[in-house]
Amino acid sequence: MIGEQYLHLPGPTPVPERVVRAMSKPMVNHRGPEFKRVITRATEEIKQIYHTQEHVLIYTASGTGAMEAAVVNFISPGDKVLAVSIGVFGDRFARIAEIFGAQVEKMPFPMGEPADPEAIIARVKEDIDGEIKAILITHNETSTGVYNDIKKIKAGIKDHPALFIVDAVSSLAALDLRMDEWGLDVVVSGAQKAFMIPPGLSFLAFNEKAYKVQQENPSPSFYWDVDKGLKSLEKGQTPYTPAVSLFQGLDEALQMMKEEGLENILQRHKDYRDMVRDAVRAMGLRLLARDDNASPAVTAVIGPDGIEADRIRKFMLENFNIVLAGGQQSLANVIFRIGHLGYVRQLDLLGVLAALEITLDRLGYPLEKGIGLTRAQDYINRVI
Ligand SMILES: *Cc1c(COP(=O)(O)O)cnc(C)c1O
Repeated sequence: MIGEQYLHLPGPTPVPERVVRAMSKPMVNHRGPEFKRVITRATEEIKQIYHTQEHVLIYTASGTGAMEAAVVNFISPGDKVLAVSIGVFGDRFARIAEIFGAQVEKMPFPMGEPADPEAIIARVKEDIDGEIKAILITHNETSTGVYNDIKKIKAGIKDHPALFIVDAVSSLAALDLRMDEWGLDVVVSGAQKAFMIPPGLSFLAFNEKAYKVQQENPSPSFYWDVDKGLKSLEKGQTPYTPAVSLFQGLDEALQMMKEEGLENILQRHKDYRDMVRDAVRAMGLRLLARDDNASPAVTAVIGPDGIEADRIRKFMLENFNIVLAGGQQSLANVIFRIGHLGYVRQLDLLGVLAALEITLDRLGYPLEKGIGLTRAQDYINRVI
């Protein structure tokens, strides 16, 4: 029996039954009291997860929509923008800013490595005239499974007036993020990663400093206009018809997250990361990310010599109905990525690791079967 799919992508992630049920409720008026209750409660819960008292808007859009919203609201055409990139999503943020007319200076780092805080701090410190208006940075780079130390970077440049704009689409609720305490001005996130709902909603959090910048921005925006969003939110609405069912699912997912507790959620993501890394290493495979900046959301594994990473994925899908992510750009067919964020538990990962051992064995990789699995079991034994 092939059974249900094990969806181990870094988004979309598995959707709990409770959320599915909440999403299948009858439709309600998006300008009525039921929706008002849902959006008001969801917005408050999301603020807790961001650790912010500032503004949060929920858009009917994928994460990229909220990235575009951040750019069109808080960056004016002609503004100088420093765009830090450690992979595909960092490149995407830079590209969006370019398309809307910013003067983008890219600060790329090799794929698989985190951004060097000292290099960024030094670059920003050179800008004594305050020409840089915004810094774009990815919190967790999903394409490589590496996260940036945004807390340290922001702390190092705290006197510079540039807006600090963070893509936290795959990190929020999987990796600690404290918007107000760390002084993050704008933080984008999305629902189909750690928030356990289907794709289609994204979040834009911004503080007063960013809001003032938006008020001076001469370039118009329609769908993404945060002013309209804030006015509607006061009435418990959105400016245009929202994805009502997804909001109902989000509300339920946030209740589940509250029941579990944010600290516990973050801890189990760290545990998954350490368990998967331990096991994969024991199998003799190499990991793309170093330990110190390895993502708690997704682990990138380098395919062994002579075995293409995509063959491993194909075998896993065809024989076990397990979905892993591939590599992108220069890492295509070089790595495969095991998503372990959102509605995932240790037993699911044991299944994935066991299937991976069988797969490697069948593809001719010399492996003492059980070696990685034992490590994973030992890990679980230590943390439960
Ligand atoms: C998934 C993701 C996005 C947004 O992607 P969408 O496909 O538009 O939802 C942006 N940034 C990061 C880091 C992501 O992981």
